[in-house]
Amino acid sequence: MKLYKAANSNEAYFIKGLMEEYKIKIKLLGENLSVAIGGIPIEAIQVDLLVHKDQLNKAKTIINKYENELKNNTTKKNWICSHCSNSNPPTFDLCWNCNQLSSIE
Ligand SMILES: [Zn+2]
Repeated sequence: MKLYKAANSNEAYFIKGLMEEYKIKIKLLGENLSVAIGGIPIEAIQVDLLVHKDQLNKAKTIINKYENELKNNTTKKNWICSHCSNSNPPTFDLCWNCNQLSSIE
């Protein structure tokens, strides 16, 4: 079942990590498109998040919470990991890519 359309692969991986904390399995659709298309920045590619229908309701609850947090955090900005230079959402304390602790200077 389609759960959510992430604006980019960073967001997709962030939500995937969020769901895994709740033992919800997420499948990402579209993350490999960049390989096929080529030349398009991976950030520009939307990613569909798929979830098993048995877990859809639970997953939607988490998504709603995530979106509310996003709205409450509009003044905060994404931070760039000092270790691997990946962009992370402000709600994230650890880098989604390498688990480096946020160190905003
Ligand atoms: Zn990192």
